[in-house]
Amino acid sequence: MNAFALTEDQIAIRDMAQEFAAETLAPHAMRWDEEKHFPVEEMRAAAALGMGGIYIQDDVGGSGLTRLDAALIFEALSTGCPTVAAYISIHNMCAWMIDRYGSDEQRRRLLPKLCTMEHLASYCLTEPGAGSDAAALKTKAALDGDHYVLDGQKQFISGAGVSDIYVVMARTGEAGPGGISTIVVEKDTPGLSFGANEKKMGWNAQPTRAVIFENCRVPVANRLGPEGIGFKIAMAGLDGGRLNIGACSIGGAQGALDRSLAYAKERKAFGSAIADFQALQFKLADMATELEAARSLLWRAAAALDAKTPDATKLCAMAKRIATDTGFEVANDALQIHGGYGYLADYGIEKIVRDLRVHQILEGTNEVMRMIVARGLVGRAKGN
Ligand SMILES: Cc1cc2nc3c(=O)[nH]c(=O)nc-3n(C[C@H](O)[C@H](O)[C@H](O)COP(=O)(O)OP(=O)(O)OC[C@H]3O[C@@H](n4cnc5c(N)ncnc54)[C@H](O)[C@@H]3O)c2cc1C
Repeated sequence: MNAFALTEDQIAIRDMAQEFAAETLAPHAMRWDEEKHFPVEEMRAAAALGMGGIYIQDDVGGSGLTRLDAALIFEALSTGCPTVAAYISIHNMCAWMIDRYGSDEQRRRLLPKLCTMEHLASYCLTEPGAGSDAAALKTKAALDGDHYVLDGQKQFISGAGVSDIYVVMARTGEAGPGGISTIVVEKDTPGLSFGANEKKMGWNAQPTRAVIFENCRVPVANRLGPEGIGFKIAMAGLDGGRLNIGACSIGGAQGALDRSLAYAKERKAFGSAIADFQALQFKLADMATELEAARSLLWRAAAALDAKTPDATKLCAMAKRIATDTGFEVANDALQIHGGYGYLADYGIEKIVRDLRVHQILEGTNEVMRMIVARGLVGRAKGN
């Protein structure tokens, strides 16, 4: 791909997602936030346009697109609602883990309904005692004949309680990353239950709940790949997930910047439009420049993940850190440009700030992103 020029197909994909965001997400986003409404029907409408299985192979109903295409889609969707876009991103990440590591039988059984979003998926890694240090997870999957018996708790799970498919990282072996396996748990399995919907600063249009396993029996046939590669599967999923969440930040921030431009041209102070003040122009210029820089790195990382280059994980971590930090800063600057009105819910800017804040925390905190980058640097410095 040429990182600096999108193909006609990519422009068409982005425009399709942008139009969907403007028509189907944006008009309702503030109400969904206020009412804590998870818009499942609208997400199924997105899936009908190919956004439920963006980089899933087409034999099971996926769209067979690239990571760069996905970045374009998630940026565009987020101009309508970052929270809904981000959930669709998590759903796509789970579907990809099944597509990439599942058997043919698992792919054919699970993916068609995930691609249409008739079934929704949740990614279950974090636990109360294991967030950044995810390899310390304790949820146990004990082998008992042709079943695993799961016991333990996952924390902060997006979509939990509504999702039909839970992609769960659980311990089947020794301590550390090598003792973890990935097991698909279906919603109505006895022994699976959920905590209360968490009260959150943002991301209100999707539920966040604990997922609890108590003597929860799951067929061994639901394990993805062999035992012991679950941590690898979880991290591989997150490479792409981090790109998507970064794209969600850029899209949300771009929406806030666009509104700031319109507002600054209209709002008068000291006898002229506030857009006439050079201090404000410089702020707008910096916002646009920093977003473009983040977008460029994100596209570069997406191309690296598509090409499976050895530095793809590092580039995804770099891109996630820059895109989510920049997205939050730009959205916050947009709030400032709106003055007191930016702080009012009616203008929609404070919602974007609240929604984008969590992107600096989840799918690996931005400190963890620095750890991933630094490990590579130190390794190279030692000649590894
Ligand atoms: C709204 C929401 C939705 C989420 N959705 C999901 C989901 O769907 N699935 C899922 O599995 N998880 C999900 N998460 C969990 C999220 O991924 C974790 O919150 C995140 O990984 C951080 O873990 P923690 O909260 O336990 O923080 P901790 O790991 O306890 O970290 C606390 C602080 O210490 C810092 N820190 C930790 N270790 C180091 C270190 N070595 N060096 C420097 N700093 C360090 C962290 O960066 C952070 O600032 C979600 C979280 C939220 C808030």
